[in-house]
Amino acid sequence: MKLTSDIHVVGGGYYGFDISGRLDCHVYIINSGSELAIVDPGCGINKDFDTVLSNIRDDGLDPKNIRKIFVTHYHCDHVGAAAEARTILDAEMCAAKSVATQIRNGDEKAASLDVGKAVGFYPEDFKLKPCEVDVELSEGDIVQIGSLTMETFETPGHCEGHLSFLLSGGERKYLFGGDMVFWGGKILLQNIHDCKIDVYADSIFKIEELDFDALLPGHLQISLNNGKSHVSQAADYFRKLGIPPNIV
Ligand SMILES: [Zn+2]
Repeated sequence: MKLTSDIHVVGGGYYGFDISGRLDCHVYIINSGSELAIVDPGCGINKDFDTVLSNIRDDGLDPKNIRKIFVTHYHCDHVGAAAEARTILDAEMCAAKSVATQIRNGDEKAASLDVGKAVGFYPEDFKLKPCEVDVELSEGDIVQIGSLTMETFETPGHCEGHLSFLLSGGERKYLFGGDMVFWGGKILLQNIHDCKIDVYADSIFKIEELDFDALLPGHLQISLNNGKSHVSQAADYFRKLGIPPNIV
C-alpha cells in the first residue's frame, strides 16, 4: 500500500491494516528510487513474512532491491521476522548497539516473550529466532538509503534499546516511532522489566524537538502531515507530571 512516493506499508495485523500476520506491527518499505529498505519486518509467525513479500511485489517493488532492514526495538511483533528477512533478502540488519547482543542471541527473556506468552499474546510454541546484527546503531548515526538519509535517535522507555528514525531527503520528513508514540499522543506502557516511565518521558521530549511531517508508528493510525502534534500531545501530559493515555 503506497502512502507517499517514499513510503509503502506492506504488513500489519490486528493493530494495523490486517494485511499480513495477526501479530505483525506496521511493516514499512522506504523507497529511494534506487534502493529499498524495510523498517520492522514483523513477527514472522509461520509463513507470515511470505505475505509481506507478496505485498511488496503487489506494490510493484522488487524485494531484491531491499538492502537494509531497520528495527526499532527487540519486541517480537517487530523483530521476530528479522532473521528470516535477512536470509531471504540478503540485506544488512541495522539495530541498536545497546541490545545487539540480545538480538543476536534471540534472548526471549530480554524481549519479554516469556511474559507475552504467559498472557496469551504470543502462541506457546513461538520462538524468537536469533538474528545477526550487521550495523549497530547509536544516537546520531546516519545511514544512507540511496538519496535518503536515515538518522538514529535513542528513545528508550517503552523498552531498553528502543530506537526512532528520522528519514529526510524525500517529499516529506518522516519519523519512524516504533512503539514509543502513537496517534493522539498515546504511548505504550507495559508491565515488563525494561519499561520505565521517567526514561519514556525524556525520549518523548527529545523527539518533540525534531522537525518532521509524518508520524509512522508501529501500530494504529498514521499521520502524514501533522505527526509532530501527536508527539506534542504526549509531551504535554508528561510536562504536567501526568501520564499520556495508553493504547492498551
Ligand atoms: Zn514493543
